[in-house]
Amino acid sequence: MTGSAGMFVDIEAIADSGETLASGRYAVPVTIGRGDQANLRLPETLSQLSRIHLELTERGGRLHVTDTSTNGVSRDGNRLTRGEPLRIGDREDLELPGVRLNIQRVGGAPEADIHIVARVGSKPSRKVPLGGEALVVFAQGTAGAALEKRPSGFSLDDFAAEPGSASKAVLAILNPEPGGLALHLPRIDNPPDIRLNRAELTPGQHWMVPLDVLTIGGLRLEVHASGSRAIECVNARCRLLNAYRPEENCRWCGYKLIEGVSRMVE
Ligand SMILES: [Zn+2]
Repeated sequence: MTGSAGMFVDIEAIADSGETLASGRYAVPVTIGRGDQANLRLPETLSQLSRIHLELTERGGRLHVTDTSTNGVSRDGNRLTRGEPLRIGDREDLELPGVRLNIQRVGGAPEADIHIVARVGSKPSRKVPLGGEALVVFAQGTAGAALEKRPSGFSLDDFAAEPGSASKAVLAILNPEPGGLALHLPRIDNPPDIRLNRAELTPGQHWMVPLDVLTIGGLRLEVHASGSRAIECVNARCRLLNAYRPEENCRWCGYKLIEGVSRMVE
């Protein structure tokens, strides 16, 4: 677990069709492309993209972008020089073949109180305030999961040192950190389907921010910031979260949010 007060960026990837392909907070450095190794992975179908198309890095406290692609990255219509880090501002739009990236730097201050709203199958939701503590998701039975709190910064090594750890399997560890929630997914045998919003997650380190929805098998974990209001999309194939702006469309599937389920987390 890193506790570095590093640089974070919010990145939204929008297809030419207007569809949101990815949206999330990332710790810099960030690689973006359609390869397995990219931190932000774009769809394989965008064949004009390189496996690692570009990289965002920090130099001297400033955000830089480096084009590592074959088909190029443009900014304000001007193509970047390949392999040369270019200093960019705290809010930038970059154009890739078939995709636009909205990039916004975020402060390194710790997130305000984050709450998890947990739901298993059709059971009622349960609110789990983190209060700065870590949340560990254990496998339970064949398809179930159990949530337990641990001290902040909790890691797999800490877990291994716990009595009885050999008989339990950790599915996920969530740690509040500056910039959001660090999510660690250990590599395990026969893992359940794990998704962050629409993206399938592989073992390793990921980031979550308020309004994200993490599903681990039949367990649904929503990330909420205290006092902010969310609206759940009514599209049964979506059910993802949006900021409470009825009249607008779901940022994921485009459904109208007006009849959505609104959720206020105190
Ligand atoms: Zn939706």
